[in-house]
Amino acid sequence: VIELTDVRKTYRSGLFEVAALRGVSLSIQEGEYVAITGPSGSGKSTLMHILGCLDVPTSGLYRLAGDDVGGMSEDQLAEVRNRRIGFVFQQFNLLPSMTAWRNVELPLCYAGGPRAERRQRAVDALADVGLADRVEHRPAELSGGQQQRVAVARALVTNPSLILADEPTGNLDSASTEDVLGLFRRLHDLGRTIVLITHEAEVAAAADRVLQVRDGVVTADSGPSARVSRTVRT
Ligand code: ATP
Ligand code: MG
Repeated sequence: VIELTDVRKTYRSGLFEVAALRGVSLSIQEGEYVAITGPSGSGKSTLMHILGCLDVPTSGLYRLAGDDVGGMSEDQLAEVRNRRIGFVFQQFNLLPSMTAWRNVELPLCYAGGPRAERRQRAVDALADVGLADRVEHRPAELSGGQQQRVAVARALVTNPSLILADEPTGNLDSASTEDVLGLFRRLHDLGRTIVLITHEAEVAAAADRVLQVRDGVVTADSGPSARVSRTVRT
């Protein structure tokens, strides 16, 4: 589903240039559960922004489900993001004035659709992550782990095939980390493709395949997971 060929990303800030990605080639098949790990500043978030169509490569090719992302307009990129990708971030990125279900409903508001149906889907997504009894709570009335589960529900509500998570457990204690990793495992079992970015080895171990990024290049790849290759062989 994901195919990167010699992807480079250079940021320019005034006179300074930072080569954040220096030739990344990789492919991720539909239904894989992949962790991307590496030290701070190695280019993980840059890579996630590109995978998530939040930014485009300076050079190289990115194909997502067969489409060349590099050649897309802003509107087309936004369309791909809304239709195919769910995002989870370290800081949860919930709107503090909105209740849990309103936060989860947001991605559906962009797509339109009847209000009652949007609410029902938001409530269902919250039930899916175990928060059926917290739909009217605001973020400040929830624990960190619960807030991140709301964020996962929001990522899921559009039914995306790809979930991208950047340090989703970075602000969580170990019990909430387990909860969130459990949710990802379940989503994976339901057939979603999951890309989990983390600098914590124990979190990366939850995935079926681990990619190491260092200084803007992929330095190690544990290879496509046995599970997926088994499916391919049969
Ligand atoms: P961390 O583990 O600390 O989150 P990371 O692996 O996610 O690190 P990136 O955020 O991808 O690292 O950054 C890679 C390099 O690109 C860094 O040297 C950073 O300073 C630079 N960089 C990232 N974003 C920008 C930007 N918008 N403009 C300029 N430079 C940037
Ligand atoms: Mg980062």
